[in-house]
Amino acid sequence: MYCAKCGVRLADSEQSCPLCGTRAYHPDLAREIGEPPYPSTESEPKRVNRSLVMMIVTIVLAIVALQLVTFDLRFTGTLSWSYYAAGGIVCLYFILLFPCWFRRAHPVILTPVCFAVIALYVLGVDLLTQGGWFLPFAFPILGSTALIVCTVVTLLRYTPRGVFYITGGALIALGVLLALLENLIFVVFHTPDRFVFWSLYPLTSLFLLGMLFIVIGIVSPLRERLKKKFFI
Ligand SMILES: [Zn+2]
Repeated sequence: MYCAKCGVRLADSEQSCPLCGTRAYHPDLAREIGEPPYPSTESEPKRVNRSLVMMIVTIVLAIVALQLVTFDLRFTGTLSWSYYAAGGIVCLYFILLFPCWFRRAHPVILTPVCFAVIALYVLGVDLLTQGGWFLPFAFPILGSTALIVCTVVTLLRYTPRGVFYITGGALIALGVLLALLENLIFVVFHTPDRFVFWSLYPLTSLFLLGMLFIVIGIVSPLRERLKKKFFI
């Protein structure tokens, strides 16, 4: 059935055209009234109970991790391989699933939590292998990385307009971090080559790239053009 005035296709249940309001049947002709194409009452969209799902996933993962540790303790008598597996599960849980507990994401709070969990895991590996490298090596590297990432996340959250300055600063900080990494590897692990300086290459390129971003941030016509071009 079609509207006689505007030609819109009409459902059999339609008494008048929804578009132009013209009555939808010839009064002399008998017609069948069909089922309306849409339900007469609005139904609420089904809501997934997020807390329940998270609770189940958490319990399942906790059981798996505990099983691994129990097996390990039973067969080797000490905590060995299961620490890596169970610890990995805990780390992935905090990085990927823990944010799902919250209705709104809070990256400023969740990022430090993730780094703290990773640091604890790495500390466990160090203690387990009696490596002694956590405090002189892993802690400063993880700490600096956490500081950079948390600063970037916080700045992006509260000053989204400074995205070019933030990106530029982050790139330069990453270069400095790599230089720190190289120096720490040399100091802590006594690498034989003293004059490698591989970190100079990423440091130089990251510094130049970072400065480019900062310059783009300063020169507003250039910034506007790039924003239009790349939909930033
Ligand atoms: Zn019509």
